[in-house]
Amino acid sequence: MKEIVNVDILIAGGGSAGFGAAYDACLHGKGKYSVAVVDSNGILGGTSTAGGVNTWEMGIGGPGVHTELAQRLLGMNKKAAILKGNWQPLIHNRPYAITSPSSEYFYRNTLRAAGVYDRVSNHNSFIFEPVAMAGEMLKTLKETGNGNFQFYGNETILGIDILQRRITKIYTNKRIFMPKMVIDCTGGVAIVRFAGCETELGKDDSGKEINGVTQIYRVTKKPYPSIDKIPINYQHPYSDCSFKKRLDNVQVISSINEYPNGDLNINPLPTIDGDEFFSGDYDEMIKKCLGRVYLHWRRLQEVSPFMRDYRIDMLFPMIGIRESYRLKGAYILTADDVLAGFTNQNKKEEIIAFSDHPVDIHGSGHSGLQILHKPYGIPYSCIVPKNIDNLLVACRGSSFDSYTAASCRLSRTMISLGEAAGTSAVHCLKNRKSTVEADIQDIRKILKLPEFTTVLTKEYMS
Ligand SMILES: Cc1cc2nc3c(=O)[nH]c(=O)nc-3n(C[C@H](O)[C@H](O)[C@H](O)COP(=O)(O)OP(=O)(O)OC[C@H]3O[C@@H](n4cnc5c(N)ncnc54)[C@H](O)[C@@H]3O)c2cc1C
Repeated sequence: MKEIVNVDILIAGGGSAGFGAAYDACLHGKGKYSVAVVDSNGILGGTSTAGGVNTWEMGIGGPGVHTELAQRLLGMNKKAAILKGNWQPLIHNRPYAITSPSSEYFYRNTLRAAGVYDRVSNHNSFIFEPVAMAGEMLKTLKETGNGNFQFYGNETILGIDILQRRITKIYTNKRIFMPKMVIDCTGGVAIVRFAGCETELGKDDSGKEINGVTQIYRVTKKPYPSIDKIPINYQHPYSDCSFKKRLDNVQVISSINEYPNGDLNINPLPTIDGDEFFSGDYDEMIKKCLGRVYLHWRRLQEVSPFMRDYRIDMLFPMIGIRESYRLKGAYILTADDVLAGFTNQNKKEEIIAFSDHPVDIHGSGHSGLQILHKPYGIPYSCIVPKNIDNLLVACRGSSFDSYTAASCRLSRTMISLGEAAGTSAVHCLKNRKSTVEADIQDIRKILKLPEFTTVLTKEYMS
């Protein structure tokens, strides 16, 4: 018999959005509502920790818990997180770069991206140790939850029951949860798909041109410079002609960040096209990505003597998925909204989170970074499915079109969107409302958004 757990707010997935959702549910629930996060990973943070995206690059922050989290990490010691500025090319004329340390940068320098054309000299990021980040996330939730928060790690959601438009049970490999409200923060919208809500994969329903998938890895210093041996499985006669061709054509294009301890985080940008990844067998695709990491590392070491001082320390356990299934919810945020910006877009009166990151598509659909002129907002209707009354969807799989998803997926944006969903869930419980009946202006007030919007408007309209 599986244990049965009654819980007021069940958050499926504990990545950036799941953390934000749990934080606001605990904060505004004030210990009155029980809050639980379930995640297949043993730690919080999802893609931003276990997936190796250990950096918050520039992007609008908005008010929120990310600042507290950053301050906690920066305050711990110099080993947990660091602020960095400027991309520096490792080799002249090579299209890859390292973000190097600087003491001149402040957290606020990372909080604005819109309209920054000169990304090379303006690129400021917040880089953190994943284990420290996951640890601080858990600590923050335990403190805020005041005994009423529980994290169920290493637990995978396998199915749900629905009765009269409400999710009544969530089945995992270990337990059965009986939630009052559910927030789907699984990235690939697992709950939404179990519930049979309408979803989209790729562009225009075609399941094509899905943003590229990346296996991130970490390298550490070694005593003597050398070009490392490739693991036996990936030595000759192993071949991967299409990736070799890409390395020849575009060179080892990568984004490289330096950790506080001097290790390097290597993001080879797309390891595989999204279309190929999602059309193949998952285990085969993962194997292919691992092989490509070794080809990538070999090429990096061949072209850059600097890299010969390092060896691979780890391949992150979670593959980096930028885009997968997305909800087709009460409103779909579109390219028109993104380009109109928060002052002119549709449903601006419903905005609950902001983004200003350039539209960034990797792989064969890559069309270069499209820098935005002003931020845009994510309206409440983008987290509301059409057919379930006690479900909100806050993650990179919320109701965005493919173009929008290529901009607003950033970790900090997902934390903010999660916070808005956590606040909304408490609002619905308190006022005995379904998610479509929620008073959006009340939710925005609790999120302190009206005031924030005025400040932004002044800044961007002047
Ligand atoms: C390669 C790459 C580089 C990026 N670079 C940056 C960057 O530089 N800066 C930046 O800010 N953002 C970056 N991003 C974007 C950002 O990291 C992600 O979009 C963001 O972290 C997604 O957050 P999320 O909460 O929506 O989903 P995730 O972090 O993916 O969290 C989803 C969680 O749900 C869990 N889950 C899924 N299904 C189940 C299930 N059935 N049962 C239980 N748990 C489940 C997963 O284990 C996971 O922990 C990058 C993304 C990628 C892939």
